[in-house]
Amino acid sequence: MAEVRLKDVSKIYDGKVKAIDSVSIEIYDKEFVVLVGPSGCGKSTLLRMIAGLESISDGDIYIDDNLVNELSPKDRDIAMVFQNYALYPHMTVYENMAFGLKIRKFKKEEIKKRVEHASDILDLEELLHRKPKALSGGQRQRVAIGRAIVRKPKIFLFDEPLSNLDAKLRVQMRTEISKLHHRLGATIVYVTHDQIEAMTMGDKIVVLKDGIINQISAPMNLYNHPANKFVAGFIGSPAMNFIRGKIISDSELFFVSTDNLIKIALLTEQQEILKKYTNEEVTIGIRPENIIPSKLINENSYKITTTLDVVEPMGNETIIYFKMGENKMIARIQSGEVLRVNQSFELLINLEYLHFFDGKTEKVIE
Ligand code: ADP
Repeated sequence: MAEVRLKDVSKIYDGKVKAIDSVSIEIYDKEFVVLVGPSGCGKSTLLRMIAGLESISDGDIYIDDNLVNELSPKDRDIAMVFQNYALYPHMTVYENMAFGLKIRKFKKEEIKKRVEHASDILDLEELLHRKPKALSGGQRQRVAIGRAIVRKPKIFLFDEPLSNLDAKLRVQMRTEISKLHHRLGATIVYVTHDQIEAMTMGDKIVVLKDGIINQISAPMNLYNHPANKFVAGFIGSPAMNFIRGKIISDSELFFVSTDNLIKIALLTEQQEILKKYTNEEVTIGIRPENIIPSKLINENSYKITTTLDVVEPMGNETIIYFKMGENKMIARIQSGEVLRVNQSFELLINLEYLHFFDGKTEKVIE
């Protein structure tokens, strides 16, 4: 069993920078938890506090039922894989993986067994006698993971392990780490600023901003039900479109954009929810895939005629950029038809998929 529990954990650097603000997370046995957020949001600090590499200013961290606040890193039974996985250049792959066990005085046979097991899992058998300089970036990263595996730790911590790899290799290693998670049945805490890594790898995602948890949820729930405007804009690529405006009552309820150029009649159930926001500011959010070409008839939709500012054919879909009133918008169109810049185009916004956020607090309205 390997569970991690953070209870009201805070970190204040130099008595002033509040890097982590009262964070509570439950990480269950065998769970793959991703800490995600923009640079400087406190992800690494949080991971380093779990590892014991950073002191805790306030709150408690438990591993299983043990309070580990004061426990040194080596006594926490944790292995960490960093972005800069410095391998020893003069040692072979085998020696690099064996080194940590050797200094912990493991028997030779046990070391051999563990290194062979790890190299089997990571497909490194053929490379055991090579030195790091004779390996590709991805192979080196696998050795770094191997070094962690041989220790059979309770918990694996990954700190942006893929950010030094090129795009193609990153995608490949993403699947390898996911597979590894299943094979090892390990508890993993994984830090990344990349929302695609978070979505594709995590059982559970923790979205951080300015040291504060904005939402903890399973990937698809995060995508479909973001708790606030920040999470809605951070998760998903291209990002969700936002339009500021307010709710007005004009026989029934409408959303009217700040520039007064968009007036959307709300659906019955939306009217129920938004009644209390009459004459109040709200922001609507719409994902790029929920804007569709107008020939795909949809009853609950709002029609716009616009001209295309940018057209990006991706093969399987086309990303188009256009304006709705004064708002810059992006849509993903599943269409074989060739689209051109400056072309006039009719689109439908699928109103069933509108998200509404409080204009002041930016929290989702539901
Ligand atoms: P992330 O990993 O999300 O990029 P970090 O955890 O590295 O963010 O940093 C969170 C905040 O704490 C940032 O504002 C950063 O400048 C600050 N910080 C990190 N390390 C230190 C330190 N050793 N001393 C002072 N401030 C720090």
